[in-house]
Amino acid sequence: MSDCIFCKIIKGEIPCFKVYEDDSVLAFADINPISKGHILIIPKRHIENMWEATEEELVTVMRTAKKLIHAIKDAINPEGVAVLQLNGKAVNQVVMHYHFHLIPRSEGEGKLSMTEWELIPGNMEEIKQTVGKITAAIK
Ligand code: AMP
Ligand code: ZN
Repeated sequence: MSDCIFCKIIKGEIPCFKVYEDDSVLAFADINPISKGHILIIPKRHIENMWEATEEELVTVMRTAKKLIHAIKDAINPEGVAVLQLNGKAVNQVVMHYHFHLIPRSEGEGKLSMTEWELIPGNMEEIKQTVGKITAAIK
C-alpha cells in the first residue's frame, strides 16, 4: 500500500534497524521503544489486522516471534517479554499494517503499565451470555 509506512520499510524506501527477514516477514526495531530490545514483526503483504491475515501468515509471524524471543533472551537476558498485537483503532492500533510487538522487560525497567489491570469481578450472567454468542459464532 503506497502510503503505508511499514510497506515503505519493506520496499526499502525508508530505513529501519533490521533484525530478521525472509520471504514473508520482516522484523525490525521499534524506533519509539517501550524498553530495550522492542521489536516489531510484520508480514510483507499489506494487511491491516488479524481479521485480514491468512492462517499461514499468522503461523509465519508466530514462528518468527519464537525465533526472536530466543535471540532476545540470549542477547539481553530480559526478565520477561510481552508479546502484543493490536487490532483496530479502538485498541490504539496506530500503524494500520499488521504487526506484532516483542517487548522485553529487563531489570530496573519496572512493570509494563499496559500489562497491569485491576481485577474487578464481572457480571457472571453477562459473561455467560457473551460466551454463548462467541461459541455459537465459531466456524
Ligand atoms: P501500534 O500500531 O499502536 O501497535 O504501534 C505502532 C508502533 O510502530 C509504535 O510502537 C511506533 O513506535 C512504531 N513505529 C512507527 N513508525 C515506525 C518506524 N518508521 N520504524 C519503527 N517503528 C515505527
Ligand atoms: Zn503496509
